[in-house]
Amino acid sequence: MQGLAIILSGPSGVGKSTIVRQAGAQLKNWCFSVSCTTRAPRPGEVDGRDYHFYTKERFEQDIAAGSFLEWAEVHGNYYGTLRHPVQETIQTGGLMILDIDVQGARQIRAAIADSPTEPSFVTVFIAPPSLAELERRLRGRQTETEESIQKRLKNARTELAAMGEYEFCVVNDKLEQAAEDFLAIVKAARCRTALLHTNPLL
Ligand code: 5GP
Repeated sequence: MQGLAIILSGPSGVGKSTIVRQAGAQLKNWCFSVSCTTRAPRPGEVDGRDYHFYTKERFEQDIAAGSFLEWAEVHGNYYGTLRHPVQETIQTGGLMILDIDVQGARQIRAAIADSPTEPSFVTVFIAPPSLAELERRLRGRQTETEESIQKRLKNARTELAAMGEYEFCVVNDKLEQAAEDFLAIVKAARCRTALLHTNPLL
């Protein structure tokens, strides 16, 4: 059976990684895609675990080499997903969860249009209950400067406008419920008939 890649987008601070961590406890054979970025590590972030922290030069070399499945400039830094780990996970029947912005999700949609591996990609948008709540969460994180918070809030409005491009939306009001909804989407996606190489009845 083919594996699955879940493309997860939503404004910064909405709680994507918290939902994945919560839901992940009940999932098997899954991993989180480690993106490459040129932004500086936040306190506590580990290179190779949270992100691959690249210099701008290295990132641009990898763009030129075609190493990225998608990449985008977000809040003034480059972010990108390496092509190889995603391909390998899908080919070996695993589940990979990718946290990427709406520009990156558009690139993946464009790349997989008319491709036979299309059922292996599912797109999910995580929305905050309100912009006021999102701002409260971003401030509560205490890792961002005021300038960075304003940049992220401005970007959030643009991202929220793209919600309709996604197959599913989960509103992260109460974490427990959001994680449960996310889990239900993953389970349903894994049951897609198109993921079967062969029909057991034939
Ligand atoms: P942060 O700096 O808060 O870790 O991430 C900022 C934004 O970058 C998030 O909204 C996240 O979705 C996006 N992002 C993280 N990794 C990638 C990636 O590999 N590709 C794209 N296109 N966006 C990413």
